[in-house]
Amino acid sequence: MTRRSESATLRARATRIGCSVDELREHDARLEAWCPGCRRWLSEVDSFASNMARPSGRQAECRDCVSRRNRMRVRDYEAERANAARRRGKEAA
Ligand SMILES: [Zn+2]
Repeated sequence: MTRRSESATLRARATRIGCSVDELREHDARLEAWCPGCRRWLSEVDSFASNMARPSGRQAECRDCVSRRNRMRVRDYEAERANAARRRGKEAA
């Protein structure tokens, strides 16, 4: 990788996160990764599950956010089922 494309990648990441390239470099040096879910810098090793399917080799969001999202999906699903049952009830009435 050339220096130019490396800094372009850094800039793109910094823009996505909304921090400066210097800040990003500091966090990288401390092995911290940005979680877009809770909008925090967290330890890459402790707070992120690995995901080898991704270029970064870890999940985009921290473990907390991933499990919260999974719980939310279940809730949405249950809410949707309840709504559908209500709609059916109204149509029948
Ligand atoms: Zn998070």
